[in-house]
Amino acid sequence: MKEVKVSAKSAHLPFHGCDPDYIRTTCHGRCCEGSSGLMVVVHPTEQVAIEQQGCTVARSCIIPSNPNQTGSKQLCPFKTSEHLCRLHDTPNKPFGCVASPFTLNKNNTLIVRNRYKLLRCYNDGPKLPAYKAFRASLDLIFGDLEATRICCHLDNGGGDIVALMPELSWIILRDNDKVKHHER
Ligand code: SF4
Ligand code: SF4
Repeated sequence: MKEVKVSAKSAHLPFHGCDPDYIRTTCHGRCCEGSSGLMVVVHPTEQVAIEQQGCTVARSCIIPSNPNQTGSKQLCPFKTSEHLCRLHDTPNKPFGCVASPFTLNKNNTLIVRNRYKLLRCYNDGPKLPAYKAFRASLDLIFGDLEATRICCHLDNGGGDIVALMPELSWIILRDNDKVKHHER
């Protein structure tokens, strides 16, 4: 296990939450698209399983279904015509996609990624705190028990909290961010 800090301020940032109707009609799963091209990171530990679902991974990233397009027009092969993820609720959804709203900063503190504050779902609708809107991400990153402890602490108005993250989650978060920042 690795000790990390969870930023309470960041965990309270307001979001709509990823309900399927909202994705179909409003946000269109914009978080799955990059402004300068698709960058869906797949960790080496999951590459074979994800490729078996029907995609190609090169340099730790999924090749778009329309690689000749540029920018945000590049699409993930797992995105449906209704903007939903074909791998959602399966064990094969990339760790990086599920964890994506959160990242570890240089101080080993879990925060919401800045790019999520540019999405339509930020400060929209019910304005759920990020730790509720993206609870599935915390469950994956920390495991259900530790995620529950973190969320109870935040529900009770607690501030920054030290939490225990499984080492594999910590490694994947760090490795995936290196790919995003072209360090690997
Ligand atoms: S994070 Fe925001 S943009 Fe992405 S699916 Fe959820 S509600 Fe939509
Ligand atoms: S695998 Fe799913 S969640 Fe990840 S980018 Fe593709 S459609 Fe989005």
